[in-house]
Amino acid sequence: MRRISIFGATGSVGANGVDLIRDAGGPEAYRTVALTGGRNIARLAEMARELQAEIAVTAHEDCLPELRDALAGSGVRAAAGSNALIEAASMPADWVLSSIVGSAGLAPGLTALAQGGTLALANKESLVCAGGLLRDTAAASGAKILPVDSEHSAVFQALGSDNLESVKEVVITASGGAFRDWPLERLAAATVAEASTHPNWAMGQRITIDSASMFNKAMEVIEAHELFGLSPDRIRVLVHPESIIHAMVTHHDGGSIAHLGAPDMRHAIGFALNWPERRPLPVPALDLAALGQLTFREPDELRWPALRLAREVMQAGGAAGAVFNAAKEQALDDFIAGRIGFTDMGPRVETTLATLSAQPGFGHAPDTLDTVLQWDRAARQEARA
Ligand code: NDP
Repeated sequence: MRRISIFGATGSVGANGVDLIRDAGGPEAYRTVALTGGRNIARLAEMARELQAEIAVTAHEDCLPELRDALAGSGVRAAAGSNALIEAASMPADWVLSSIVGSAGLAPGLTALAQGGTLALANKESLVCAGGLLRDTAAASGAKILPVDSEHSAVFQALGSDNLESVKEVVITASGGAFRDWPLERLAAATVAEASTHPNWAMGQRITIDSASMFNKAMEVIEAHELFGLSPDRIRVLVHPESIIHAMVTHHDGGSIAHLGAPDMRHAIGFALNWPERRPLPVPALDLAALGQLTFREPDELRWPALRLAREVMQAGGAAGAVFNAAKEQALDDFIAGRIGFTDMGPRVETTLATLSAQPGFGHAPDTLDTVLQWDRAARQEARA
């Protein structure tokens, strides 16, 4: 029986992963090694009981008594804190879903990769902060990284066994998020509640706000660069309000292969779970006649400066990804807390990149977790409102 673990099980992606395991037969079909969460202890304990996990871990030590109580008599071991997350990630598993939000997902993801097996990667922050380190760790252990972000899963599926040299460009689509059609002058006053709604996808709050600012798409462009080894000029973003085509690969021979699907994360997670096979998934099939039409437009970089910053980060290389991600996370924290406005996030990230790019070592890609975390801390401190 395949052994699986889900990091960030209580979140939007993680819970979809748990749904798929349940749908496939739960403990009859998979042996669940570890499930982890943050503060949603009731949900974590319920999932761990249902899937008969070996261990359930909360990231927060103060939540341990509550988790222990909730798991009493279940046979599931309870643990807490960052060391416990690492311990859980080092427990052998065949398939690990990395779906913690933010750079907190990096250390458990790296630890899981070092064990071999397959890392189904939703935590794009890991690739943006430390793409080279992830690839090297996977190469050393023989682990496989499979994308779970829907656009990257779509690129992976559209590429198939095609040689990257035949690829002219890869297009990843963006819905445009909550403010796609807002007048530009209204954006500065946008509230957290307004930024936390999404026209098509049901996701966690942070990625939903990042969709409105396009920081999410900027992260995905860098993720595509790191994951597929594509040069920045071969990655293009198109606004596609219907979120049906997730990505398209265009070849030098003029042919393009697009991946289409309903905006439902269970497809990309299930694809990674069953790969290299394709098995039935509880995802509705598309009805193109009912959809009628699909529309596309160029992204406006005045509205979404994050896309320009992504190109600058890829060109700079070195520690730019780690700084970009941490500055973005800090700016997002400050926006959610009401300390800065929606349109202050972009300039704050840009200034942080400019300031830290003058520091020694910025041009070297971080090759240890400690170095990534040093840049992460420095960027958060610099970006803090
Ligand atoms: P959520 O906010 O819904 O869930 C995040 C998960 O991480 C929860 O289990 C949460 O625990 C846990 N968590 C939060 N902070 C920490 C921490 N400091 N240490 C350990 N665990 C923590 O996020 P999403 O599911 O939306 O996103 C997860 C990842 O997947 C992100 O990297 C995102 O960019 C990516 N992604 C998400 C998509 C989506 O559809 N949502 C699509 C593609 C990629 P708790 O809730 O219990 O506090």
